[in-house]
Amino acid sequence: MTRVYNFSAGPAILPEEVMEQARDEMLDWQGTGMSVMEMSHRGKQFMSIAEQAEADLRELLAIPDNYKVLFLQGGATSQFAMVPINLLRGNNKADYLCTGHWSKKAIAEGRRFCEINLAASSEESGFQHIPPHQEWHLDPEAAYVHYTPNETIAGVEFHWIPDTGEVPLVADMSSTLLSRPLDVSRFGVIYAGAQKNIGCAGLTVVIVRDDLIGQPLGGAPSMFDYQIHGDNNSMYNTPPTYAWYIAGLVFGWLKRKGGLSAIAEVNRAKADMLYHFIDSSGFYHNPVERASRSRMNVPFILSEQGLDGVFLEQAEKAGLTNLKGHRSVGGMRASIYNAMPQEGVEALVEFMKEFERTQA
Ligand SMILES: *Cc1c(COP(=O)(O)O)cnc(C)c1O
Repeated sequence: MTRVYNFSAGPAILPEEVMEQARDEMLDWQGTGMSVMEMSHRGKQFMSIAEQAEADLRELLAIPDNYKVLFLQGGATSQFAMVPINLLRGNNKADYLCTGHWSKKAIAEGRRFCEINLAASSEESGFQHIPPHQEWHLDPEAAYVHYTPNETIAGVEFHWIPDTGEVPLVADMSSTLLSRPLDVSRFGVIYAGAQKNIGCAGLTVVIVRDDLIGQPLGGAPSMFDYQIHGDNNSMYNTPPTYAWYIAGLVFGWLKRKGGLSAIAEVNRAKADMLYHFIDSSGFYHNPVERASRSRMNVPFILSEQGLDGVFLEQAEKAGLTNLKGHRSVGGMRASIYNAMPQEGVEALVEFMKEFERTQA
């Protein structure tokens, strides 16, 4: 068996140890004679898996007690609707930051439910920087402020948490949650699809402050009501049990790695290595303003676009896969989530050097 270094933006690489453990437990989870896939979500075995996963996530992120942790389905995309449905609470206005593809999607969905104030946008400059806080126009009467701390496609990341005063801050952390320590108490809601940095597709993690739930829009479906999921420990209906289990294995792996401060150091070193190489090369280029560069998703272009196809083909042969940039941006993108080992980034840099030497 040969494993590749998979630079996919999502579904993305998972820690090998996690998949080995899942393999070893596949047919017989801890002497039960059953796969986790076959377990009743209300049985004591799965309940213990679910509780352990939540406890480990709470420990990793030091989540305060007044926050609920929900294990849902529907992806981050469902949260684009679930956030206004639950957080408007009689208000009809919300603030949104527009810093890329995913913020735009959240804004478009938010418009179905309320009036949206675009507090700031970097669209005109091609989403290559984070608009500085001094330039934002926040509405003190907004129900909440929504932003996207890491824009997965353009590779733009906030390295600071905006201060929104009393107005709850909502963050789509799909491609950055668990990549570094986080002060959860600064947020009203944090949500993330699992398939980037948490586990496999099918699970969406939502962390929501207690006092914000319980007043959903009239007529909201039960499945879109945070309170109902909270009251039922995310088991109002059948949860995505296997994806929840895999996320639990990833949380365990992160704890063994030394937690989020330790992984953040590794992530910083990996990103620094790649950006440093790109910046020192005359052949590769990353267009994002330095202070706003993502540590998780690194887009880059070749100075000769005509070589994109050859680059991808040879990279694939070298065991470096899924480097094609998003269709809206073009060029390349290397996603280097928690599970991408340092050696993977080293191999990529070596390949890029060699490609430049022989093709450019
Ligand atoms: C991938 C991604 C999404 C979409 O997630 P789904 O789980 O497919 O709905 C939303 N926001 C960000 C920042 C993403 O990276």
